[in-house]
Amino acid sequence: MTEQSKLTQQDTVIELRKMNKWYGEFHVLKDINLNVTRGERIVICGPSGSGKSTMIRCINRLEEHQEGEIIVNDTLLNNDIKNIEYVRRDVGMCFQHFNLFPHLTVMQNCCLAPIWVKHMPQKEAEQTAMKYLERVKIPEQAHKYPGQLSGGQQQRVAIARSLCMNPSIMLFDEPTSALDPEMVREVLDVMVELAEEGMTMICVTHEMGFAKQVADRVIFMDRGEIIEQNTPDKFFDSPQSERTKLFLSQIL
Ligand code: ADP
Ligand code: MG
Repeated sequence: MTEQSKLTQQDTVIELRKMNKWYGEFHVLKDINLNVTRGERIVICGPSGSGKSTMIRCINRLEEHQEGEIIVNDTLLNNDIKNIEYVRRDVGMCFQHFNLFPHLTVMQNCCLAPIWVKHMPQKEAEQTAMKYLERVKIPEQAHKYPGQLSGGQQQRVAIARSLCMNPSIMLFDEPTSALDPEMVREVLDVMVELAEEGMTMICVTHEMGFAKQVADRVIFMDRGEIIEQNTPDKFFDSPQSERTKLFLSQIL
């Protein structure tokens, strides 16, 4: 087999081609090219305001891009609502501020999408929810409300809730940056486990220990551009651009 045919056989699940986005006049993402293969774990870092959240939100169409292409699981993201729904079913997302429904219990939060989007019978949805609440090690919290839980527990519920939809890709947007320091580890541990089980993941995070532990690739963004990307070893040991060096000197 030639190198080229090996490459094309690799299973690309997310592809961004010359993707550009503006907020009004403001050019927030500039010619973004990105290929993610099945099972790949990517960490994105970069200064605040560099476009990290906007980029990953474009991947499940929480934000709309204006130029270039985004293809997720062979589906082109355009204005076709069917395509958008198809992609969202298969792409889970966890945010900095958890975004749980405060008036619903943990169990109800977890069952909502499987029942309403996938038309799963309630009993099966509850069983699925318990399976994932056990996986994130909080089955005993199932009947509490989010407000009765710690931040770390709430984020683990948010992860379990996403997993209940059985996604093939998970996007994380600074999932630990709103947490008290003593709760960061418990959330990272869940993410490490997911990574080790082969989940395709894109994580915006400044947890560089996590990046070194699980990432296949670290991507550095600044001012709407991907400045450099490399394996964690090379990225941290020999950053190429001055902007990356400056950023790393500020966070490490
Ligand atoms: P990051 O996640 O890297 O901190 P963001 O993607 O949140 O960056 O934001 C990138 C830039 O886009 C910032 O300058 C931010 O102020 C701007 N921005 C983000 N969301 C909006 C919006 N809805 N409307 C206008 N500007 C926005
Ligand atoms: Mg952000």
